[in-house]
Amino acid sequence: MKNKIYDVIVVGGGLAGLTCALHLSKQGIDVLLIEKDTFPHHKVCGEYVSNEVLPYLNSLGIDPLAEGAVPISKLKISNYNHKEIESTLPLGGFGMSRYYFDNLLFKKVNETCDVVFKTVEAIEFISEKFTVTAQDKTEYKTKYVVSAHGKRSNIDKKLNRDFIEKKSTWLAVKKHYNYDFPANTVALHTFKGGYCGLSKTETGAVNACYLTTYSAFKKYNHIEDFQKNNMSENPFLNKFFSEAAPLFDSPLTIGQISFQPKKPVEHHIFMIGDSAGLIHPLCGNGMAMAIHSAKLFSELFLKQYETKNINRTILEKEYEKQWNNKFSKRIKTGRYIQRLLMNETTASVGFSLLNKFPSMLNLIIKKTHGNPI
Ligand SMILES: Cc1cc2nc3c(=O)[nH]c(=O)nc-3n(C[C@H](O)[C@H](O)[C@H](O)COP(=O)(O)OP(=O)(O)OC[C@H]3O[C@@H](n4cnc5c(N)ncnc54)[C@H](O)[C@@H]3O)c2cc1C
Repeated sequence: MKNKIYDVIVVGGGLAGLTCALHLSKQGIDVLLIEKDTFPHHKVCGEYVSNEVLPYLNSLGIDPLAEGAVPISKLKISNYNHKEIESTLPLGGFGMSRYYFDNLLFKKVNETCDVVFKTVEAIEFISEKFTVTAQDKTEYKTKYVVSAHGKRSNIDKKLNRDFIEKKSTWLAVKKHYNYDFPANTVALHTFKGGYCGLSKTETGAVNACYLTTYSAFKKYNHIEDFQKNNMSENPFLNKFFSEAAPLFDSPLTIGQISFQPKKPVEHHIFMIGDSAGLIHPLCGNGMAMAIHSAKLFSELFLKQYETKNINRTILEKEYEKQWNNKFSKRIKTGRYIQRLLMNETTASVGFSLLNKFPSMLNLIIKKTHGNPI
């Protein structure tokens, strides 16, 4: 493995990296996937996946519904002024824990390409070749690097990416619970300074995952205090936190979540998934976008690979152009909706309007989602 020159090294084995490694290796590309954590593992995520990626996943031999994913067709949203609106989701989706979903993809990837579990420390591009160095100083060589390292990683620091120096105001918390909750529904309940998603997973557990600002959170002593005295002002969350039985000893948390714009290609590295851009989680579409961006890169790469003469400049420009066409607007719309929802006045006006014209909700959802791929 050491002296080999891979066609492609994929850094990061989340949904984007795993999908890309699977797609390329299934077509005969020599791929190495480098992931820092072994599988399976839990991740902070709402765990609602839009159906837009189902046909593509099926084409790769992945069938989440056959694996027990919960079909979801309804959305309920509420704010702390006690209003709840229900709508049918235009495309719908499914609920599956990241513990199961990522591992499902990993098992397939492990059959078709090389995988190592190490933290990548450096990616250097010299004379049309990359050297990818792991924390144990092992060097891996390749012609192309796809980095799928997620929202925030040591790699962003190493590459000196613009967003990494800017302060981020968001943190997120997730836990699974036993709770009587409709399986066909994903709920989004807002509270002062954030919002919380609830939906069922393949185990029957309800995943509760929330995003909040540091300024809202810091007024409270700890997570339980925040849930009881801030989030529970929303009666739906109050009922949930009073009745639900936690299934994890302690919650999973992440901080410094940045929604700043990023670039899909940097230092000749193709960024896919959250490393290229993160949509606000209230859209419930980050995983679908991560998977879609893997498809986008893989198809462009394979098209050029067939010609036996890959033009790096053209590939980079085309990927950048198509990534922006597919995802930039959605990310901007997500940012806009988040701002409206987090402001007490605009949220109140918005909820009143949606109560009168619930069909508007579908129009908003469509703005942040794509067509099935
Ligand atoms: C609070 C919250 C709730 C969300 N809810 C939803 C939802 O309900 N629905 C939805 O569709 N999306 C949701 N999202 C978004 C979704 O989680 C992401 O868009 C998705 O996980 C992106 O996948 P990815 O593969 O790009 O990144 P990740 O899944 O984060 O994978 C990145 C991988 O890279 C690895 N890695 C990082 N650095 C290195 C390194 N140096 N060396 C080796 N490996 C490395 C990590 O270990 C990780 O496995 C949510 C996000 C947040 C923050």
